[in-house]
Order: sequence, then structure tokens, then C-alpha cells
Amino acid sequence: MSAFPPASAEIRKLIKTAGPMPVSRYMELCLTHPLYGYYMTRDPLGREGDFTTAPEVSQMFGELLGLWAAAVWKSMGMPDPVRLIELGPGRGTMMADILRAIRVLPSFYQAVSVHLVEINPALIDRQQETLRGVKSSVNWHDMIDDVAEGPAIVLANEFFDALPVHQVVRQSNGWHERVVDISASGQLVFTAAAEPLKHFELLLPPLVRAAPLGAIFEWRPTKEIMQIARRLRNQGGAALIIDYGHVRSDAGDTFQAISRHSFIDPLRSPGQADLTAHVDFQALALGAEDAGARLHGPVEQGDFLRSLGIETRAATLMSKASTQVSSDIQSALKRLTGTGRGAMGALFKVLGVSHPEIRALPGLSVEQHDDAAATGAAA
Ligand code: SAH
Repeated sequence: MSAFPPASAEIRKLIKTAGPMPVSRYMELCLTHPLYGYYMTRDPLGREGDFTTAPEVSQMFGELLGLWAAAVWKSMGMPDPVRLIELGPGRGTMMADILRAIRVLPSFYQAVSVHLVEINPALIDRQQETLRGVKSSVNWHDMIDDVAEGPAIVLANEFFDALPVHQVVRQSNGWHERVVDISASGQLVFTAAAEPLKHFELLLPPLVRAAPLGAIFEWRPTKEIMQIARRLRNQGGAALIIDYGHVRSDAGDTFQAISRHSFIDPLRSPGQADLTAHVDFQALALGAEDAGARLHGPVEQGDFLRSLGIETRAATLMSKASTQVSSDIQSALKRLTGTGRGAMGALFKVLGVSHPEIRALPGLSVEQHDDAAATGAAA
């Protein structure tokens, strides 16, 4: 028997046999290993879990996205059916709030066929429970490309931050893959691969090429965004990507682990903590554009929600609520749209991607050029 918990023992075994492992591989194993992966074994959300997301903060979030989707459907020419696809739907809360909100628009509600892309068996159970009685015929899929053809509206909240990220470190002779190794004292430690990556700097955005020695740059493969963009270009529709991150590619280490709403060392509890890295929205935008889709934004989440009318919605809910519930709505509004510690309004960005003929998407017309890489977290 190993002295280490299973995911840790597995990672150590792989490092001992095959050598140091890229950060992206470590993240992938920790999150999605079929037996020991963080996302394969638990419901990570909520007060009792490790982190809280916008749909879990307030029903207003999903409701506004429902109205957003209805407006987009109209600009698509009201196709019937239209596939409403959510990537990484968590507890199903956002989809349930969306569906409740669009019930008042029967032609849209009836045209919608719901598709959830999810790998977590515990969360699939939870989604089934949440959506029971809200809408019949919900479909589950392992991958985006498994969803049947047709015009689609795609939603992803805090999905991209969970996808494995590569880290590279600048040294005097070039950029080296950042890897996880075992130290002399038996600890998992970060180090850099011995050899530099050949010609890697040619792929780097100009801002990053000038980074000092020791700088870290993070990049993700563009597979998922390109699958979405290609689908929208070929079959019509739009996608909304919401996540924490920066609007311009830049150097910086954002690889982080969250357990019980606090940051911990990402190498300390493999498979037991949520691992994420900020989303590089410029890289997503380039991937989507290369696949032939139109971009909208990105804008800050606070601006997006305000332009969809979150303040009016909050006031309506508060006018009918008790003092206690009113104050909860007020603090949810602040958390979703505000800035500062723990608030999501500026840390989170919203990017729209669409078929080239859709010229505007609600809430996304103001382009944002502020590249201050937001730090902190939404734990
Ligand atoms: N969108 C939800 C949950 C965010 S947590 C919310 O806002 O509350 C990340 C979600 O993505 C979880 O549902 C997780 O199980 C799922 N997920 C993580 N990696 C995935 C992958 N590779 N494919 C599909 N789903 C994934």
C-alpha cells in the first residue's frame, strides 16, 4: 500500500517511470483521471464544497442569460429546433433558471432542445435532479462535438478555467515547459524541463516575447473554442463564454488550487482540490476568429449584467421580498457586478462568438481594451 492518497500515488508513479510531467498533464490527471480525478468524484460547488459560481450566487444570473438567449434566437431567425448547449453545467442551476425565465416566451421555450456537456458523474446526477420537472428531454454528452448538428446557442460559465493549461518558463536559452517533479525529500515540486522548446518564441504574442528571465507564460490548446466556432460558422448561432481571466495575453502565473473556499498549494493535494488557471481571452478570441466566427467583446461581467438589466431585476425582486431576502439580493448583486475582493464584476469577462452574419449580441457591443490582468479569485 502506498502512503499517499491514490491520485498522488499515481502521479508519483508516472513521474518515477516517465520523468517530470508537464503542468498541463498534472492538471488533467488531477481533474479528470477516471478514478481519482477531482471532477470525477464529487460535487465541488456551494458553501459546503470548494467554490461558489455566479449561478449559485443568484437566480438573476441564469434568468438574464435566458433573456439574452431569447434575443439571440430572434437575431438567428428563430430556428426550430435550436440547440441550447451548456458546457460544464455544474449543478444545473443556471440551465434551470434559464428555462424558467424563457417559459414566458413559449415559441422559444418549445423550440429549445437542451444539451449538457459534462464529464462528472456526481454532477450529472445533480443536474438530472435540478432539471426534473423543468424541461423534459434533456440530453447529456461527453464532448461538444457529440451534440447533433443544427443552429445552436452555446453557454459556458467557468468551464474554460478548468481545462488543462501549459506553463512555460523563460530562461537564458529560451522557453522551457514547466514540469512537476519529485524532490530529493520526496515532495512534488515545480521545475523546468532541461531543454528549451524549439522556436517557441515565434508563437508568443509580442508582449510576452519581451518578458524577463524567470517569467511564466500560460497557454491552452484551442481545441474546444475552435470546435465551438466552427460549429457556429457552419450551422449558425452564438456562444457566450464567461470566466475569470485577462483580455490580453500576458506573462504571469495564475495556476491555482482552491479547497474549501481557500487557496492552497496546487501540488499539495492532487485530486482533492480544484485546479484552475485564468482564461486568456485574447487566445480564445484568436482561436474563434481563425475558425471563421465573429467576436463580440470581451466585456467585464459587471458591465454585461448591468446592460442586460440586472439592477432593474434586483429592484423588482426586492420590492416583493422581506428585509432579510432584500439584503441577500443586494449582496448577490454586489458580488456579481461589483469590483474588489471576492466580487466578480471586473475579474470575470464575457466573450461572445457567433456566426459571421450576427452583427451584434446583447450586452457585448462595448469592446474592452483594459488589459490589467485581474488577480484574486472567486473562491
Ligand atoms: N458552470 C457551472 C460549473 C462550473 S465548474 C457553474 O457555473 O456553476 C466546472 C464544470 O465543468 C463542472 O460541471 C465540471 O464537472 C465540468 N467540467 C470540467 N472539465 C470538463 C471537461 N473536460 N468536459 C466537460 N465538463 C467538464
